[in-house]
Amino acid sequence: MSRPNRGACPNKECKDHGIQGRENVVPHGFFKSKIGKRRRYRCTSCSKTFSSNTGTPYHRIQHSRDAFDHVVQLSVEGVNRSAIARVCGRSWDTVARWIERACRSAANFNDKHTRDFELTELQADEIRTFVQSKKRVRWIFTAMEVSSRLWTSTVVGRRSYRNTRDLISDTTRRARDPESPLITTDGFVFYSRVVREIYGGACVYGQVVKTWRKNGVSTVDRVRVIGSRRQFANALATSEDSEKLNTSFIERQNLTIRQGSAYLCRRSLCHAKSEETLAEHLELQRCYQNFIRPHRSLKFGKITRTPAMQAGLATKALTFREIFFLAMVELLFDFKSRTSDLSNVGNRLRMAA
Ligand SMILES: [Zn+2]
Repeated sequence: MSRPNRGACPNKECKDHGIQGRENVVPHGFFKSKIGKRRRYRCTSCSKTFSSNTGTPYHRIQHSRDAFDHVVQLSVEGVNRSAIARVCGRSWDTVARWIERACRSAANFNDKHTRDFELTELQADEIRTFVQSKKRVRWIFTAMEVSSRLWTSTVVGRRSYRNTRDLISDTTRRARDPESPLITTDGFVFYSRVVREIYGGACVYGQVVKTWRKNGVSTVDRVRVIGSRRQFANALATSEDSEKLNTSFIERQNLTIRQGSAYLCRRSLCHAKSEETLAEHLELQRCYQNFIRPHRSLKFGKITRTPAMQAGLATKALTFREIFFLAMVELLFDFKSRTSDLSNVGNRLRMAA
């Protein structure tokens, strides 16, 4: 863990790039950083030198990795960048740059590892927010696999047919041959068209339509869209989580998302300046919620699992440190043979085929 980059050359031009376990990487003295002496490595095949942070978000940060992780952690707990800068005694620019790097690394990690899960019950919903000004309303589409609580996909943008389709098709594509899952959404107009297009009759799909009055929900209608009464009864009987058709799991999750992002707080001054910033930060949050933070409803005896553990994507709760290194190792790993051995960091995750 302390020297995860030791085994492979990060230089993309090098003939031994990304190959672990060869003797081409050797210690090559030390260099000074603000936090002290650090080891440098050299690749004997291409003569390039690098440090253990090369290729990770920690590259040339001039501060400890702990300091970096702390900033990232605060940002997924809903603290805004100005507050982080004040609390941690860093400049606003540094904080913004670190978070941006962390977001990119997390997005890469999510893409690689959120796949091959079992899809038995899917719930989808949208969060309303805005970027720049209150007039530019944007929607965050989220999808969740209910039995594992895995947050499978996110799309940010207008409340359009295309975004609805992207959400459902991304989740479906990542799942392991979904077999007639139970799908529940709200009554938003494009869902039924999209679900029909993607699944045809190979799912059970229902909508929970809530009518809002001034002081809360006045009526809840449960509508069967695809599937017979009997298929619904079967699907709900096999579900460990739902007795009735509901969207409460995704709604609960969307509340967590709102609380974990300074961009999404209501009546906040820190709304996102662009759709991209918002989408990137959601990837960081997704990484945190799926792989790092144990989920309270997944408590089994003494162990509380993360959604990724429950979905069989990881064998333990990961840390940001592991994820940032792993995202890097995998970047290298992808370049050459898939059979090459990952360092002990990589072996902690069950590799998606
Ligand atoms: Zn090299």
